[in-house]
Amino acid sequence: MSCHDIGRGMNYVVRRTITLYDRHEIALEPAKKIIASCESAVNWCDGNGYEAIDYILKCRCGKCLKLVPKGEKLYSIYDLLYKFRDNHPNLDEELELASHGLCEECFDRFMPEFCDGEWDVESLKKSIEDDKCSNSFLSEGEHQSNNNGCSWGKDKYWYEL
Ligand SMILES: [Zn+2]
Repeated sequence: MSCHDIGRGMNYVVRRTITLYDRHEIALEPAKKIIASCESAVNWCDGNGYEAIDYILKCRCGKCLKLVPKGEKLYSIYDLLYKFRDNHPNLDEELELASHGLCEECFDRFMPEFCDGEWDVESLKKSIEDDKCSNSFLSEGEHQSNNNGCSWGKDKYWYEL
């Protein structure tokens, strides 16, 4: 059985990182590197990477960290068809993503370099939208109000001032 506590701990850091980024206390690239590190840090226990980035997974672009308005496109690269992904096994590394969602603007800007004869950006987007098993291509527009099902808590610390 996997450990959910380390995911919650890392997700707490992701939430703090986003807060600092939104306040312009840290820049985009370091914020993304901290968040990506939180996702991989769950491997110090038997954790789940998606729990570590739960705070942003359904509302933020993993490339530009934009908060995508509710109902607008937020494409998960994990929803790309296997026959495409098989040719690009390190796509999240190559795109340098903090999470696996891409806003439509970033998708249009960064995916063309991974397209070849069979695929173009529009057919990739359509393949995600047509995937009936996936409802994850629309942003929820706001951060998760709880930490993987647990309360965020009300503790106050000096760094929250
Ligand atoms: Zn973006």
